[in-house]
Amino acid sequence: MATVVLTTGGTIASRRRGDATLVAVDAAAEVVANAGVVEPDVRVEEFCRIGSYALTLPLLAALAERVRQLCAEPGVEGIVVTHGTDTMEESAYLTDLGHTRRTAVVFTGAQLSADHPRADGPANLRDAVLLAKNPEVARLGVLIAMAGRAYAAAEATKAHSTALDPWGAAGTMPLAVVSEGRVIVARRPDPTPVPIVIPPERAARRVDLVKLAVGVDGELVRAAVAGGAEALVVEAFGLGNAPRDVTAAIGEAVAAGVPVAVVTRCGAGPAAGVYGDGGGADLERAGALMLSGFTGQRARILLAVALAAADSRSTALELVRTRMSLRPHGRTGSEVDHEEN
Ligand code: ASP
Repeated sequence: MATVVLTTGGTIASRRRGDATLVAVDAAAEVVANAGVVEPDVRVEEFCRIGSYALTLPLLAALAERVRQLCAEPGVEGIVVTHGTDTMEESAYLTDLGHTRRTAVVFTGAQLSADHPRADGPANLRDAVLLAKNPEVARLGVLIAMAGRAYAAAEATKAHSTALDPWGAAGTMPLAVVSEGRVIVARRPDPTPVPIVIPPERAARRVDLVKLAVGVDGELVRAAVAGGAEALVVEAFGLGNAPRDVTAAIGEAVAAGVPVAVVTRCGAGPAAGVYGDGGGADLERAGALMLSGFTGQRARILLAVALAAADSRSTALELVRTRMSLRPHGRTGSEVDHEEN
C-alpha cells in the first residue's frame, strides 16, 4: 500500500532568498528528503509551489479534486498534503467537504522555514506520514497535523501567527496525537456527512467576508453587493449582533437575492437570534442565516462550495443547512461553556 505526499509549497518548502525574504523553492522530492522520509511505499507528487497566501478558490478545488482522485486509486492508503499554514484551514476544510473518509488525508506544514536551524517541517511531515498510514485515521475525516497534534479540518483555525502548534486555540481539541512514534486517537467525529463534491471549473465564486467593528455602518455590505458578491458572510458581534444600519444593509442584500450568513467574530461559539434593536433576532427577521460554530473563513468556504455544487442560490442554502445540523465534530469547549453560563 502506498502513501502519497502531495506538495503545494508554504514555509515547509521555503528558504531565504538573496533579498532576505522567504519563498517556497523546495521541490516535492526535497521536501520529503529534508524529512528523511525514505520508505519505498511513499510516493511524491508536486501540485504547486507557492505560499498559501497566494492560493485561489479554483486552486483549492483542483487540489481537493486531486486528493479525491488519489483516494480512489487502488493501493493508496493515505495522502499527506504539505501546505502553507496561512490558509491551510480553508484548503483542508474544502477537501473535507467532499471527502468520503475511506482513505486517510492529513494536511501538514511548518512555522519555521526549511533552512531554519530548528525547522519544524521535517518532524511534522514524518508525523503526518505516520498518521496517514494508520488504519484508524481515515474515519476521522481530513486532518491538520502539526507539533504532534492532529485536528479536524472542520474545526481547526490558525489562531497564532508563529506558534509551532497554531491550531489548538479557542478550545479546539485534537482528534489524535502522535507521541513517541505512536498514533493515539483521542476523539472520534460524528458520522460521515454526505460529501459535497464540486467541479473545479465552477469554484470561482464571489463570496465576500465582512467583519464588524464597533460603530461601523452598512456601507461595506452594500459595496460587496454592488461589487457582484453572490453571497456574503458577516462576522458579527458576540452572539451574532450588528448595528442597525448593518442589519438594514443585510436585509437589502437578502431582498436583492444575495444570501447572507452570520457568524460570530469571536472565532468560536454560536450565532443566534437573541437580541433585538438591530441584533441577531432582527438579522434573522431580515433573512440572514445564523451559522453556529463557524469562523468567517470556514463559512465562506462552505457557501462557495454550496454555490458551486447547487443550481440556484436557494438550493445552495439548503446544502449549507445540511452542514449546520451536523455539528462539525461535536461540541467545542467554548460552546459548552456558553451553554452552561
Ligand atoms: N506562513 C506560511 C506558512 O506557514 C506561509 C504560507 O502560508 O505559505 O507556510
